[in-house]
Parts: sequence; structure tokens; C-alpha cells
Amino acid sequence: MLSSGRGCCGAWRPGCGGRLARWGFGRERDLVGLGGVTGRVRPRRALCAVCGVSRVLLPDSMLRRRQYGVEVIWAGLLAAARGRPWNQVAAQLGVPYTTVREWLRRFARRADRVHAWLCGLLPRLVDDPVWPAGVTRVADGERGGAAGRERGWVR
Ligand SMILES: [Zn+2]
Repeated sequence: MLSSGRGCCGAWRPGCGGRLARWGFGRERDLVGLGGVTGRVRPRRALCAVCGVSRVLLPDSMLRRRQYGVEVIWAGLLAAARGRPWNQVAAQLGVPYTTVREWLRRFARRADRVHAWLCGLLPRLVDDPVWPAGVTRVADGERGGAAGRERGWVR
């Protein structure tokens, strides 16, 4: 069992219930944290025993194809949500403004998916969740193309 808790291939390939086994490491890469502190990360790689597909298991502090850590990106999103202009957010974080602008654009494009994912977490975190207006539960087993429907929640 992998220590990350993501030991099932089905998290990436719906329908495959194969267990993931450790299979070396992914490529070592830089990860920039708050304050511009850069560290080297060498994420684990796992192999599915059923379908034979390998996966790089990023730590929770990393996002795929992102040089900056989750804490930096989150700080940028929070500052922008509080009304700070993206160029000031970039200066505060020590990140190129084009990078911050791209985070905000990408986040805005995927806001519905993020909303659906967060709504999917609610029943796991709270016994009696209070649902945001307009959220309805989709019947178990029903699947749609959108991520929210795949997670079981739609707006
Ligand atoms: Zn698999």
C-alpha cells in the first residue's frame, strides 16, 4: 500500500480497480515555495498491477506541471479573491505577473469543477452539510461528462 493513500488505479482510470505498487521515482524537479525558497522534489512512481499503467504520485504540496507549490498558488488566489490586482499579487509573492495571471485565468475557467469537487468533499467532512444554493445530488451510478457529474454533484 502506498503511503499517499492513493493506492487504487481507479482514481485515474475509472473502471480499473487495480492496486498501485511502488515503482521507482519520477523525474526530480524544483518546487518553489513561499518566499521563493526552492527545494528539489523526487516524487514516487507507481505501477498498476492490472492495466500496467504507471503514475507519478505528486505530494499534496505540488500540482501537475506547476513549478510553484500549492501554498504559493493558493496565496495568490486568496489575495486576488480579496480584490488585490494580479500584478500586485505577483509582486507580493515574487512570481512573474504572467504566471499569476495564468493561475487566475485557469482557476476562473475551472471554477465550476473546483466548486463541484469541493461540494463532493462536504459529506466526508461534515455529518449534516449545508449545501450551496442550486446544488443537487445526482443518483448513484449516474455519470455525465462534466467533472461535477462524475463526482456525483452538479449545480
Ligand atoms: Zn489500472
